[in-house]
Amino acid sequence: MNELELKKVCKIYEGTVSYQALDDIDFTVKSGEFVGVMGPSGSGKSTLLNVISTNDFPTSGQVLLLNQDLHRLSEDSLAQFRRSNLGFVFQDFNLMDSLTIRENILLPLALEGTRFSAMKQALQEIAMQLRLTEILERFPFEISGGQAQRVAIARAIIHRPSLLLADEPTGNLDSRSSHDVLSVLEQMNQDFGVTILMVTHDPIVASHCHRVIFIKDGRIYNEMYRGEKQQDF
Ligand code: ADP
Ligand code: ADP
Repeated sequence: MNELELKKVCKIYEGTVSYQALDDIDFTVKSGEFVGVMGPSGSGKSTLLNVISTNDFPTSGQVLLLNQDLHRLSEDSLAQFRRSNLGFVFQDFNLMDSLTIRENILLPLALEGTRFSAMKQALQEIAMQLRLTEILERFPFEISGGQAQRVAIARAIIHRPSLLLADEPTGNLDSRSSHDVLSVLEQMNQDFGVTILMVTHDPIVASHCHRVIFIKDGRIYNEMYRGEKQQDF
């Protein structure tokens, strides 16, 4: 099944000078794939994620998530669809400083009014898988960057989304923590079948993906599957 499909997606930022940030982007991500997106600064990576996450609208073209045309859903159904099917992880973790790790992870479920017993079970499972059990009562300032990103991943997938969007998830981490976070993403992909689309600058990080899409000036100019040899990669 196709998890995500982009059809001729264009994004033009209008201003005193208009700027075409995405130019006819066409690609498909199958359910269960782990896909990387690489490209120089300003190539359109954040715009691409924003259009997929429906944070922003494409100027033309279609974004289909699980065969639903996201930008045609009503505001209410979109919010609902997004909440149940998408998870986000960012470079800067975005944890709430005044909440414990446990509270940070449970916040999305609590906001949805999930029953306490169900939350407790979901938390136990995810904390075990992501090795967070020992730090659940700590606050964000009491944990390492690698741990903070594992917490952010736990929060992003505790509601079992089918697609996880990750924007430079290892960008603020040293190589050891990067490796750790990557193993966790790979494990979520393999064991839970979460489809992952990850923007990264780091070729070592990208080499863990099944496939890498290269973008430049808002266009896909290359695509590589793991195992293929190629100069820029
Ligand atoms: P990347 O994430 O690859 O660094 P972006 O998607 O952030 O690239 O940006 C792509 C291009 O679009 C850049 O040239 C950037 O300056 C431009 N851009 C991004 N956001 C806006 C905006 N809100 N208004 C105008 N131009 C924008
Ligand atoms: P950069 O790509 O320049 O490193 P960030 O990682 O901080 O920037 O953010 C990447 C993009 O993700 C930004 O364009 C931002 O608008 C978007 N973003 C930030 N928070 C959210 C969110 N909660 N949901 C979806 N998109 C978000």
